[in-house]
Amino acid sequence: MTDSAVPLKLFNSLTRQLEPFQPVHPGEAHVYTCGPTVYNYPHIGNMRAYVFADVLGRTLSFKGYKLTHVINITDVGHLTDDADAGEDKMEKMAAEKAQSIWDIARHYTEAYWADIKALNIRQPAKWTVATDYIDEMIQFARDIAYKHCYELDSGLYFDVSTVADYGRLARAQTEDGEGRIDEVEGKRNAADFAIWRKTPPGEKRQMEWDSPWGRGAPGWHLECSVMSGAVLGFPFDIHTGGIDHREIHHPNEIAQNQAHCCTNGLDVASNSGANVWMHNNFLIERSGKMSKSAGEFLRLQLLIDKGYHPLAYRMMCLQAHYRSELEFSWEGLGAALTRRKRMVRPVAELASYAGEASPVVSEKFSDDLLAKFSDSISQDLNTSEAITHFEALALSGAKTVLLNNSDDPQAVEAICAYRMQVLRQMDAVLGLEIFDVGLEDLRIRPKSAIITEAEIEAKLAERKEARAAKDFARSDALRDELIAAGVEVMDGDPLGWEWKLG
Ligand code: AMP
Ligand code: ZN
Repeated sequence: MTDSAVPLKLFNSLTRQLEPFQPVHPGEAHVYTCGPTVYNYPHIGNMRAYVFADVLGRTLSFKGYKLTHVINITDVGHLTDDADAGEDKMEKMAAEKAQSIWDIARHYTEAYWADIKALNIRQPAKWTVATDYIDEMIQFARDIAYKHCYELDSGLYFDVSTVADYGRLARAQTEDGEGRIDEVEGKRNAADFAIWRKTPPGEKRQMEWDSPWGRGAPGWHLECSVMSGAVLGFPFDIHTGGIDHREIHHPNEIAQNQAHCCTNGLDVASNSGANVWMHNNFLIERSGKMSKSAGEFLRLQLLIDKGYHPLAYRMMCLQAHYRSELEFSWEGLGAALTRRKRMVRPVAELASYAGEASPVVSEKFSDDLLAKFSDSISQDLNTSEAITHFEALALSGAKTVLLNNSDDPQAVEAICAYRMQVLRQMDAVLGLEIFDVGLEDLRIRPKSAIITEAEIEAKLAERKEARAAKDFARSDALRDELIAAGVEVMDGDPLGWEWKLG
């Protein structure tokens, strides 16, 4: 079942407006997302960018569009500075670790994919790996070089004065616009950027290829222009990335796309290569734990090691609008986990009443909530509001159904089945997976725990027996043993949690 009643509106960073989504190909949606540079583990801020792109893709599917989503893996070309200064991040890490760059790329790509899976981010139609597209990059650069580029000792440079409206995306956000720029001897304009970087004489890079401009490697901006155009074709529908990309990376991609498509000004958004450019705001953390250069940085695995279910982080992301800054805190993460937990029991009860019944009836309560849910998500992905409608249905569970149909078990079954179906439709967008999860999946269980779940359950069972036999001394002793092992016993917990670790 899909929903197309309310038009989907998305905020286009290029025009700074909410625009109704109008696909290039009717009924289809083609989306490109700037992927990670695989020189290190992604931090949870990076993963916010992919949770956002995932919700966008899921929403497009929910609205009935056939989605083709592409995410790239940058395994070459991204310098330590987004513009032209610094070293290649991959080369730098490989030198530091004295490892092959290809091994580094494989290791961190796999780590990133593990996070993608843990966060219930759907697989895109295609992962494009930059080093698989070198021939296409050289061809693209050749196509635009004659009119738009010039050669310096250090590489082939793009002359930004050859395209109209250069830097409009950046200027749209800040009045001074054009982002950071780097001094390179001989550049015609300060904002010109390298699309091919020559290997300096006498040096050898682990990753380098022959090109008409000498041996070297492609520029990072060239990669995304080439991969998005090669797989989706220009113009495609939506290009996404984090807000830092509005300053340099995306304006430069846009300039190359304009050059390649032989188009001029950006008064028509599609001249930029994509109709809509969307950007997620940052996840911030005040103590600097997001920085990959700090020792222990905020990786998803750290959250998991501290005992948090990874979808608690997904919930945390969805509680904020993607265009708002979001501050990370452990308390906030705990609250997001609890919010997800609260839905589990009523939904499990609902599922048990629904049984295997196919929902032949509909129910106004569910339909109204689904309509509200659709309104919220269609308004530039208002996930924080959409969750409240999902939650209203989940928390209601089977309660009112049982009350209103106390003498009609068949009606109970049919309505509960209908509610389950609507909940599943909503969760196809949110991806919070509140079905088929047990209490044990959502318990905070740090890796450092010195007691196993089975041992805790055994001690609690023994304690129950002791209490039943009024042996309070034994019961208290067992409780003390549990406390010593870091377990908090929660007698009579209304959520049924009974105990907690850490
Ligand atoms: P990178 O691997 O550095 O190319 O970044 C991958 C993605 O994460 C890009 O879309 C960035 O814009 C995005 N990003 C980087 N830092 C953050 C952050 N703190 N919060 C949200 N997104 C981020
Ligand atoms: Zn990119």
